Amino acid sequence: MTAPQKTILIIEDEPHIVLGLRDALEFEGFAVLSATRGKEGVTLARNEGPDAVILDLMLPDINGYAVCEELRRYNPLVPIVMLTARSQESDKIRGLDAGADDYVTKPFSVNELIARMRAILRRAARSSVAAPDLYSCDTWSVNFSNHTLVARGVEHPLSFYEVELLRLLVERVGQPVSRDDILTKVWGLEASPTNRTVDNFIVKLRKKIEKAPDKPQHILTVYGFGYKFVA
Ligand code: CA
Repeated sequence: MTAPQKTILIIEDEPHIVLGLRDALEFEGFAVLSATRGKEGVTLARNEGPDAVILDLMLPDINGYAVCEELRRYNPLVPIVMLTARSQESDKIRGLDAGADDYVTKPFSVNELIARMRAILRRAARSSVAAPDLYSCDTWSVNFSNHTLVARGVEHPLSFYEVELLRLLVERVGQPVSRDDILTKVWGLEASPTNRTVDNFIVKLRKKIEKAPDKPQHILTVYGFGYKFVA
C-alpha cells in the first residue's frame, strides 16, 4: 500500500459499535483511534490530528454537540460525521449547526458510513490541494481554499460540504442545479444522503450569506427541481 494511511477517530461509548466500526475501517485500510468519553476524544483529536472523526451524540460525560464545537474550535476543517440515535430532524440540524459535516441515524449500516467517510475524505483532499480560490458578491465573499465566508463584516467558517455546495452553485451561476446533480457532485454517488441533506445545507448557507435567509436573494429555490445561484 503506497497511499498514506488515513486515521479515523471514533468517539463512542458503546463497545459493540466501536468494535464493529474498528474492524470494518481497519479492513478498509484505515488506522483507527477510539475514545469512550467526549473529553478524552477531544484530547486525542488534538494530540493525534485524525483525518476524520466519527462522533456519537450520546456520551457519558459531555454530549456530542459540545464535543463537536470543541473539535471545531481548533480544527475547523476536520470532517466530522455524527452518530445519532434520534431521528428527529431538529437534532440533525442542531448537529450540523454545531459543526458536524454529516450524520447517520442508528441503527446504521457500516458500509454506508464507510462510503460517506470515503466521499468526505476525497472531497477534503481535493479542496486542500486546490489553488487559492475566491469569489466575491455584493455584501459577502468566500475563500474556497481556507473555508471562510465573510458576510457584512462577520467571518463564518464553512464545513467542506458547505464549500463544495456553494462552489458548485457559483460555478453554475444563473442556471438551475438539480438536487440529484448536487448529490452526485458534492456527496458522491456511493454515499446516499437524502434530498433533505441538501436542503439542510442550503439552509446553513443561506443563514450565512443572505441578509434575510427566508427571502433569499442569492440562493434561490427552483421548486420541484433544486437550486439556482444568482450573483
Ligand atoms: Ca453512546
